[in-house]
Amino acid sequence: MPDRPHLVRAVKGTRDLLPPGTLLWQRVEDDARQAFEAYDFKEIRTPILEPTALFARSVGVDTDIVSKEMYTFEDRDRESLTLRPEATASVVRSCLEHGLLADGGIHKLYYIGPMFRRERPQKGRYRQFYQIGAEVLGSDHPLIDVEVIEMLESFLRGVAKTGVGEFNLLINSVGCGRCRQEYVKLLRRELEPVKATMCGDCQRRAETNPLRVFDCKVEADQPVIARLPTILDYLCPECRQHFEAVTGELSRRGIAHQITPRLVRGLDYYTRTTFEITSGALGAQNALLGGGRYDGLAELLGGPPAPGFGFAIGEDRLVETIREASRSIAGTPDWEEDSLHIFVAWMDHPAGIASNDLARELRAKRLKVALTYEPMKLKKSLGLANRYHARFAVIIGEQELASGCYQVKDMKTGAQQEVKREEVAAYLQERLGA
Ligand code: AMP
Repeated sequence: MPDRPHLVRAVKGTRDLLPPGTLLWQRVEDDARQAFEAYDFKEIRTPILEPTALFARSVGVDTDIVSKEMYTFEDRDRESLTLRPEATASVVRSCLEHGLLADGGIHKLYYIGPMFRRERPQKGRYRQFYQIGAEVLGSDHPLIDVEVIEMLESFLRGVAKTGVGEFNLLINSVGCGRCRQEYVKLLRRELEPVKATMCGDCQRRAETNPLRVFDCKVEADQPVIARLPTILDYLCPECRQHFEAVTGELSRRGIAHQITPRLVRGLDYYTRTTFEITSGALGAQNALLGGGRYDGLAELLGGPPAPGFGFAIGEDRLVETIREASRSIAGTPDWEEDSLHIFVAWMDHPAGIASNDLARELRAKRLKVALTYEPMKLKKSLGLANRYHARFAVIIGEQELASGCYQVKDMKTGAQQEVKREEVAAYLQERLGA
């Protein structure tokens, strides 16, 4: 006997999302669409595969994402391609490529889809993960920052009815090209005498891109980092005014936020506002989402100036926090309930034909229907109906065929009712509220 070939498994750091778990994913995505559309966002879908240069130029070559986490390969024609590690750069590329920004208006776009980063897999961190994000292009008005954060807040509170529980909004400004340049010079000077005590990455960053030192996760470097000057103290008057406008209006709208001067976020394209929402329910990987303003990104990608603001929610983590939050609420959340409407039970062959016809009619009315493909004893059929959590069973045997009346059994109460064949669909629709 030849050896059985070994089982092929999913790639490390990727995972299968299976039913019924996918019910919550669908629910989250439906709710996001609704919440974003209320703010006049429209969906954009860009390719997962992009030219590598897109991310090198926007996210930045000194960032962890570009320097060590991208899935990059050479295509057959030698072009360097990358599985997108994030989608903001793609959205801006797409808008520029299609001339969307040429009308001088404001464009609000959202996306939902997989991203790829070759990070060390752990709870809450995957190599293929999903983001739900939105971008506003065409204006640097501080009210855009506030409106988007307000939209996020209301979405997080109500998503999947449960919401995500407690969360914290951390906010900072990383300044503009001008004031950041001055600050980075200062940072470089401050790092000079201490960098030798820091990790290899930080020593490199201190030379090439000092702001990235704030991304360092090495424990021993943290006291040094904590003593570095923060950009908030070096903002130019325009950036300061912008930041005060954002935080002032957040306060006026009653949106709690924590000014966090060391929040620079791990991507180079950010300017002015950067923010993150964290949740205690997530443990070590506690960032639920992150975002900010990127007023120079369109130009970095070869386009005309087009300021932008956006965020990306980690959908894997969002789903996790909702599950966590739902544990403290009584009752089964509706995204956990298996919701088969009707099970059609039949006992012998002529009834099989009638059962399939009835199932087809009910399904055309978008009721969820299951039935067996082989005849089955009534008791066994009803057992299956129970196992599938069907709300109703329709029983069709020889007698029912002869009389033209089917038995409809309410699986919750056990009550059974005879219903004329042609009235079965209307009868069930009414009772199911469908
Ligand atoms: P970023 O694009 O790095 O600003 O990340 C935005 C959000 O995406 C984070 O706050 C996380 O919730 C999520 N995220 C980033 N990387 C991963 C990952 N490897 N696995 C799961 N979620 C992630």
